[in-house]
Amino acid sequence: MISSHLPLCAGYWFGCSGDGQPSYARRVSLVSLGVPTIPRAGAESVRPDTKALLDSYGRVATDLRVSLTDRCNLRCTYCMPAKGLDWLPRSTVLTGEEIVRLIGIAVRDLGVTEVRFTGGEPLLRRDLEAMVAAVSALRPRPQISLTTNGIGLSSRAQGLFGAGVDRVNVSLDTLRPATFAELARRDRLDDVLAGLAAAKHAGFDPVKVNSVLMRGHNERDAVPLLEFCLRHGYELRFIEQMPLDAQHGWDRTEMITAQEILAMLRTRFRLDPDAGERGAAPAERWLVDGGPGTVGIIASVTRPFCTACDRTRLTADGQLRSCLFSITETDLRTPMRAGASDAELARLWRDTMWRKPAGHGINDPAFAQPARPMSAIGG
Ligand code: SAM
Repeated sequence: MISSHLPLCAGYWFGCSGDGQPSYARRVSLVSLGVPTIPRAGAESVRPDTKALLDSYGRVATDLRVSLTDRCNLRCTYCMPAKGLDWLPRSTVLTGEEIVRLIGIAVRDLGVTEVRFTGGEPLLRRDLEAMVAAVSALRPRPQISLTTNGIGLSSRAQGLFGAGVDRVNVSLDTLRPATFAELARRDRLDDVLAGLAAAKHAGFDPVKVNSVLMRGHNERDAVPLLEFCLRHGYELRFIEQMPLDAQHGWDRTEMITAQEILAMLRTRFRLDPDAGERGAAPAERWLVDGGPGTVGIIASVTRPFCTACDRTRLTADGQLRSCLFSITETDLRTPMRAGASDAELARLWRDTMWRKPAGHGINDPAFAQPARPMSAIGG
């Protein structure tokens, strides 16, 4: 099936066309830059007979992100409008049983080894612990993680740890209460800090912290956030803001880049590249002041990592997405509720992933933001 190779569309300076293929002139310079290559997809590509979630570029998805709800108890300005969204009708949101069935198919039949629960805000689901326990009982047992805003984690961290969550990421963009209230449109900083402390106390190690910096709002929090995380033993990762807000207000020129974040942190810390293997991890890691503390930077926009992407995504209403930025989805809910077998659902899943695009295309002039915002996809 692999007849030729070409560089994967990976950034705007690489000049991707709409189908993720760089133009000829740029291909030449990409080769000279030694950009990694991946198998070329083409009309002649035929999906090999494998159980894995393989795409036509040769990547294999093993990391499943499951959104449990599109609802959230914060209204972060870069994510949701102040009044919230038109929430998914309750009848379309998958039940815990349906979610566990689909995760079971992914783990047993499709080679998924990691499951991350996200949202919306996953702690809004009261049946989260039961789902975690059921997923934890699957064999082979997948790694289980959770991305949360931390509100309510103080009373649930121990139970989630006991049910089988292996890793937790808590989102925190500032340590200043007034800035938190302005950015999240809710005055809940103390709840998040209590959630973080409870996660550490429950035994999660490391506890990861995710931060998005917004120009004119919280860029001066970069250094204090890292000081705070180092002091408490949390692992901080900054994420470049992506065009996934419901308001479609993302503006490249306003985005704080990974390079700027590094420069800000270097005013206070010595940062050396962490020599550890990055693999499919989205964060580039840096040793802080010689270690052992580290900081990660997820440069989704300026240094995309699509070549190494191993993700597959399931939305709260049972739609499969091969990429955060997919503009097409595969409906699993309707066939599942109509009585489809596990084998039929697995086939739909494999077919969807085979069509995964080469790259997210954010840096392509023809980029179209997906209709679903981050909160309804699952970050
Ligand atoms: N409610 C949970 C939380 O706050 O972590 C899980 C869902 S939230 C969508 C997951 C992560 O996506 C958060 O760390 C959030 O900061 C991040 N996020 C949301 N919108 C984003 C955007 N436009 N660009 C980059 N990250 C974003």
